Amino acid sequence: MERLDGKKVADALHAQTARVVAALKQQQHEAPLLVAVLVGNHAASETYVASKIKACERAGIASRLVRLPETTTQAELLAILADLNADADVDGILVQLPLPSHISETAVIEATHPAKDVDGFHPENMGRLAKNLPALAPATPAGIVAMLAHYGIETKGKTCVVVGRSNVVGTPISLLMSQNRPQGNCTVITCHSHTVDLPRYTQMADILIVAAGKPGLIGKEHVRPGAVVIDVGIHRIDAPDLPRGYRIVGDVAAEQLTDMSGWLSPVPGGVGPLTIASLLQNTLQAYSRRRGIALPNV
Ligand code: NAP
Repeated sequence: MERLDGKKVADALHAQTARVVAALKQQQHEAPLLVAVLVGNHAASETYVASKIKACERAGIASRLVRLPETTTQAELLAILADLNADADVDGILVQLPLPSHISETAVIEATHPAKDVDGFHPENMGRLAKNLPALAPATPAGIVAMLAHYGIETKGKTCVVVGRSNVVGTPISLLMSQNRPQGNCTVITCHSHTVDLPRYTQMADILIVAAGKPGLIGKEHVRPGAVVIDVGIHRIDAPDLPRGYRIVGDVAAEQLTDMSGWLSPVPGGVGPLTIASLLQNTLQAYSRRRGIALPNV
């Protein structure tokens, strides 16, 4: 299979974001401001948040990190969110998930102002997305759409099979792919853990998007030759033979697809880098809509 290079697409998106921010500053506008909230010391979350802050810096977007201890109560976190919602300088808010178990993620998502919800998780944004109205779309599905657009992959009239129906990936990407939009107009089948005979459906796919969170779930027998396969799953697997002691794999057993015709967005190097790039694009959208400033077409 040929490789869809997420890093290349992400670089192009980051460069475009940086051009827009530079043009806004040239027009004497303030830079957009993204606030990240990190509760506790979850190692992977630390890394994700650091990458997001670094990406903001590179693009010229202002950022702030609100670091809170593991013992923060839900009421305290909601009070901080209320302040951020009310702060006119703040364009985007992201609360890094997962949260400690004593805090309800739903309550936190619902307490983030929809206009600042750059993760696109608030029910208002999901509802607007479902109705194909302008919305802040979740970053990973938006990244998948950006990947398809970058490579000029025709979607109209194609069969798209999505494995997974989470609110973060599977459900929003199923909606986007079925809607009347440039990277849409597919006939979509959404599979989940109760799907009987998964290969029967996945073999129908012209475009197969896999977000099941199960390493190596999809093998050769699931894929039709010539398909475009987008692997979203990401897993750290112990690999004592490697110097760092682990390797990153996806939901697709990529080594089984090497000799097949078609396209693969692999893990690592596929949609992963696009999630942050889309998050920054959402921050620009949130800035533009909330402040009523048109984004320069650069
Ligand atoms: P999730 O919330 O655990 O959802 C997984 C979905 O897959 C569920 O809908 C589940 O069905 C379905 N599923 C599980 N086993 C299945 C099987 N054997 N056959 C068919 N469907 C199955 O996970 P998520 O948040 O969507 O994330 C999925 C993967 O993507 C994870 O590995 C995650 O780390 C990765 N991810 C990567 C990025 C990125 O690269 N930037 C971003 C987000 C997520 P039920 O609904 O029936 O349980």
